[in-house]
Amino acid sequence: MSERAKRVLLAKPRGYCAGVDRAVVTVEKALELYGPPVYVRKQIVHNKHVVSTLESQGAIFVEENDEVPPGSIVVFSAHGVAPQVHAEAEERGLKAIDATCPLVTKVHAEARRFASADYDILLIGHDGHEEVIGTTGEAPDHIKLVDGAADVERVEVRDPEKVVWLSQTTLSVDETMDTVAALKQKFPLLQAPPSDDICYATQNRQQVVKEIAAECELVLVVGSTNSSNSVRLVEVALQAGADASYLVDYATEIEDGWLDGVTSIGVTSGASVPDELVLGVLERLAKDGFTEVTEIESVKEKLTFSLPRELVKDMRAAAAGA
Ligand code: SF4
Repeated sequence: MSERAKRVLLAKPRGYCAGVDRAVVTVEKALELYGPPVYVRKQIVHNKHVVSTLESQGAIFVEENDEVPPGSIVVFSAHGVAPQVHAEAEERGLKAIDATCPLVTKVHAEARRFASADYDILLIGHDGHEEVIGTTGEAPDHIKLVDGAADVERVEVRDPEKVVWLSQTTLSVDETMDTVAALKQKFPLLQAPPSDDICYATQNRQQVVKEIAAECELVLVVGSTNSSNSVRLVEVALQAGADASYLVDYATEIEDGWLDGVTSIGVTSGASVPDELVLGVLERLAKDGFTEVTEIESVKEKLTFSLPRELVKDMRAAAAGA
C-alpha cells in the first residue's frame, strides 16, 4: 500500500492585520524620523519576534510612562490605552504617538457613548488583557467585565432595561456568541453594539482555520502565548476537528513527536505575526516530507489604516524642511 502524500494546508488570510501593520510601521517611522531611542509603552503588538526586532533598531519597551525620561517620544501600543495614560504622558512632558488600532478606538468611542447615556456596559473580554484595561478606563464606573459565559451568573446591573454588551476585538466569535446568549437569558433587554466589535482580522483568521482544521490532523498556529487572537486560533482549530493544535513562536519549537503519523497539517498565524516566521515553519515541515503546500483562501483582505496623525504631521514637516 502506498503511503499517503504529506501535505500542508496554508491559511489565507493569516498574519499581519491592518492594525498591527500600522503599529509596527509607526515605530519604524518614528525611529527614522526622531532617531533612537523611541520608547514604546507595552509590547507594540503581542509578538516576541516583532518586539525583539524593533529593540534591535533602537526601540525601548517600557511598562509605564514613568519609565520614560521627560521630553522623550513614547508610542502607545495597538491595544489601546485609557485616557489616564494620555494625561500622564502630557503631565510628564512626553511626546505621545498613539498607535492604537482604529478598530479598538471604535470600541472606546462606543464605551464613551453608552456611558454618557448612563448605560451599564458589559464588556466581554479577558481579565487583565491590555485592550480590556484600556477600554475599561474610558468609563470605569459604567463598565463591568464579563470573562466568558461562566462569568455571567455573578454579573449585576443597576437597571436591566439599560444594558449593552461590547467586546474585546480578538475573541473567539463562537464563544462570544455563547456568552451573549447567556447574558440575554439573564437580561432579556440587553442591547448589542452598533457593529461587530470582534474585528474583521480576528473573524477572517478564525473562519479559514475552521475550514482547514476539518481536514487536518494537526494545526500549527504561529504566534506568541500573550497574543489573544493567536491563542483563540488554537482553540478554534481544536473545536473544528483537528486532533491536535499547537502555538509556536518559531519553527524550532515544533517537536518531532507532533508529526508522528500525521499526513495533513494546517498552518496559520495570528494577526501580529510577520510572514517570515510562517515561511520558517514551512521549511521545517518540508524537511519532514511536507513539501506539498496548498493555500486555502477564505476571504480577501484589503483594509489598510493611515499612520497616526501626530506622526504624519511631523513627517510632513520634516519633508518640507528637507
Ligand atoms: S487584531 Fe483587529 S483590532 Fe487588533 S490590531 Fe488587528 S485589526 Fe486591529
